[in-house]
Amino acid sequence: MVDDVGIMGYGVCIPLERVATETIVRKREGRRKDIEELLSKIRNGLLLQYKSIANSSEDTTTLATEAVQNAITMSGIDPMKIGSVALGTESKPYAVGLAARHVASFVGVGENVFVADLEGACNAGMQAVNYVMSQIKAGIVDYGIAIGSDLSQAPVKDALEYSAGAGAAAFVLGKKNLVASIRDMAPYSTLSLDFWRRDEMLVPKHHGRTTVEVYTNAVIGAMEELLRRHPNMKISDFEHITFHQPSGYMPLKVCKALVQPKIEVGCDPNVRDRLKISKEDIETKVKPWLTVLQTGNTYAASTPIAIATILDKAKAGDDILAVSYGSGAYTIATWLKVGKEINKKRKTVLGVQDYIRRRKEIDFKTYAGYLKERTRREKIRLEYPRIVGYIEPIGKKSIDVIICSSCNRVYYPVRSRCLNFECTGNLDKITLPIKARLKKLCPRQQKIFNSKTLKKGKVFIVDADVDKLKPKIELECVTRRLDYEGSDGLIIYGPCYRPSFIKK
Ligand SMILES: [Zn+2]
Repeated sequence: MVDDVGIMGYGVCIPLERVATETIVRKREGRRKDIEELLSKIRNGLLLQYKSIANSSEDTTTLATEAVQNAITMSGIDPMKIGSVALGTESKPYAVGLAARHVASFVGVGENVFVADLEGACNAGMQAVNYVMSQIKAGIVDYGIAIGSDLSQAPVKDALEYSAGAGAAAFVLGKKNLVASIRDMAPYSTLSLDFWRRDEMLVPKHHGRTTVEVYTNAVIGAMEELLRRHPNMKISDFEHITFHQPSGYMPLKVCKALVQPKIEVGCDPNVRDRLKISKEDIETKVKPWLTVLQTGNTYAASTPIAIATILDKAKAGDDILAVSYGSGAYTIATWLKVGKEINKKRKTVLGVQDYIRRRKEIDFKTYAGYLKERTRREKIRLEYPRIVGYIEPIGKKSIDVIICSSCNRVYYPVRSRCLNFECTGNLDKITLPIKARLKKLCPRQQKIFNSKTLKKGKVFIVDADVDKLKPKIELECVTRRLDYEGSDGLIIYGPCYRPSFIKK
């Protein structure tokens, strides 16, 4: 190792809304005679219970923004010092148009930075870590942000529909004050398209059980490479182990292969014995980090969230093994060593369990409505009921947005002129507080976004039930999707408010 590069701060975002896997399966397959058997298989075999669902105000960019804000807070670093932002996802809001640059702008990162959106199925988040880590090691940048964020969609009545969740995790990487150093990242990839999504298709396809075989081989393939690089290392030496979580079943399938007296998967006899783990290791080192039961498969965010889950509990000096997997197929076995800073830093932001506990269970109808909106081709305007209200600021921290008086487009962050070169409209600045108190609600909700609402001093409230929004309730500003400018136009993002998510 040259200089230690590692994680200075980490953060996650798991959306508020959840749907029980059982609710979806009963609706989709209720007529099957073996429905109870199927449900038992999903519950006890695949280990799927709940999926986190992004509501209409959220997308990959907004989830990533919140995760990055947490990571920056924990790192204690000025966002202007960040030199690179890489975002791994398979659910990009724009086919062409950088989600990473959106996130960078929303969190206050400057202009002389490298920005990249990376695709690599579920491995894209950890590939982002490798990309930024390499830039820091090479001396190209001092600090960078790596993100995994996804809200992947699935074909209806497909096993993927029962598992696809939503979430994001982000790491601020650098060389100082590390909560964990990255000791090594060992890759393994083969051309094995077990799962894919063709250009312009809205949902992926897969070869079903093929994935299990490809996944197991690729996960073990990366571990073998890590062991070849470190001749004295054994997998059982790690205090915490996590394998990519498309379900609970898949990582445990790898565990099952690794506890056999003679390991049959993998091809390198020189490292085979060092792959072995015990049944106790599975219980104490692998199972505690299976967040997939509460969130579903968060795709590119899955392994980054699992790492955050471990860092929320790990002790300084612990070794972590995290093997990420992306269909197609590609794995990275990442070895992390927990640093002393962990004790001081981890309490500074909301942890994975805080996000898991903050939950609202939705019914099938609400879930189906979100799904319909996500998988509709003609997205002319972004329609969803928005609560509108008046607020008063708490404290002095604020943000500004600009509204063009001619085209009525909202610019966040602010611009010095309208993006449309021909437009000669005045730019009206609106200042909004970071923290606020609700004064009163407007009697009517709005389905379609209108910038005049903001001009009239009103704001949009998300992640809330109308009947629970009493005057004086504390609100916090979040970046959310506001509108689509027609089916091929821009996605408009801007500030909304939600009930303050206070750590209990
Ligand atoms: Zn304009």
